[in-house]
Amino acid sequence: MHSMIRYDDAYERMMAAAVPLPGETVPFDQTIGRILAEDVVSDVDMPPFDKAAMDGYACRRGDLAAGQMVLIEEIPAGVWPQQRVQPGTCSRIFTGAPLPEGADCVIMQEQVTRDGTEVRIVVPDTADNICRKAEDVRTGDRVLRAGSRIAPAHLAVLAAVGAVRPRVARQPRVAILATGSELVEPDVLPGPAQIRNSNSWQLAAHIRACGAIPIYSGILADRDAVIAAALDQAMTEASLLLFSGGVSTGDYDLVPGILRTRGFTCVFDSVAMQPGRPTLFARKGTCYCCGLPGNPVSTFIVFELLVKPFLYRLMGHAWQPQMIEARVNQPIRRKASGRQVSIPVRFVSPGVVTPVGYHGSAHINAMAEADGLVTIPVGETGYNPGDAVCVRSFST
Ligand code: AMP
Ligand code: MG
Repeated sequence: MHSMIRYDDAYERMMAAAVPLPGETVPFDQTIGRILAEDVVSDVDMPPFDKAAMDGYACRRGDLAAGQMVLIEEIPAGVWPQQRVQPGTCSRIFTGAPLPEGADCVIMQEQVTRDGTEVRIVVPDTADNICRKAEDVRTGDRVLRAGSRIAPAHLAVLAAVGAVRPRVARQPRVAILATGSELVEPDVLPGPAQIRNSNSWQLAAHIRACGAIPIYSGILADRDAVIAAALDQAMTEASLLLFSGGVSTGDYDLVPGILRTRGFTCVFDSVAMQPGRPTLFARKGTCYCCGLPGNPVSTFIVFELLVKPFLYRLMGHAWQPQMIEARVNQPIRRKASGRQVSIPVRFVSPGVVTPVGYHGSAHINAMAEADGLVTIPVGETGYNPGDAVCVRSFST
């Protein structure tokens, strides 16, 4: 048994332990939610040529005052211009088409009238309406950074620069080991003294949301042989082993002892957080193990505060929670304690949060209503209505 360490210390120790996984190349259209393992550079200028930003007439600014021009060519998008715009002439041009030589502006079609090849200027003043070659990106520019999490905008960039097989971090495989002789699966009506296993399913969902791969190891009775066999199996197929329950110091909390017999080094086994005190983190080389207290709210909060950032770090992504400033509309009170307290809250209107009704760390319904967490720091007693707080939002 180690001594209790502060949350920030636990976080730093886990982050320091994480050795990022190697990368792999993946077809770009299958990379949503993945983490880039290398910078991406552009193989083209963007725009690739001076192009029209409007439908209109490519012409010379100096000719606008004269009030009329002769049309010499039509340039749709995808066609290279053949004619040079000479004084007194213009070319019909459409959005995205290359600007013809000689032209220095595109007058919008709404600002002219036209009769055959005669174009009359009704409003003799215009912006350039030209997107200049390479004004957005030059060939060789870095357009995406290693460590970025790929979202729809990143996919558009990958497509635009022809990065069709980007290198992304491998997805960590995460074994879910739910211990507890009282557990039955969700499709079973619990008998006397039994409860349903909900943790494995919320953990699988959390893991997927981070872009990692859950591996379900079933329900493990509180028996050394059962847990040890599941651990041995999980070590062959996962880089992170997540235990739920059985990680504290009761007679049936067998996980810490089994980890020792398998050669794991315990990094910490008690964190000054509430809920979540009996959280453990151990490692054997690059096989990591995190033990989460079995109460479903503790499981949720410890995943959010420690496991999620760790998983992202394994993929080389410096994930940070979204922090939203707000005011509380109800008192939030706790006895001052040596542990930081996480309070689930929900937004009642923009910038205003209220604590969700919450009886204790078995009360998982509370998390289904919550939008985020408010922290009461070590030694403090909470907040009064109207106090400013920072809400840690449940964002991925
Ligand atoms: P433990 O951490 O094993 O002492 O478990 C703490 C509490 O969480 C007990 O009331 C357990 O019944 C409950 N619990 C443990 N595992 C799960 C699970 N997988 N799903 C739901 N509740 C659980
Ligand atoms: Mg248990």
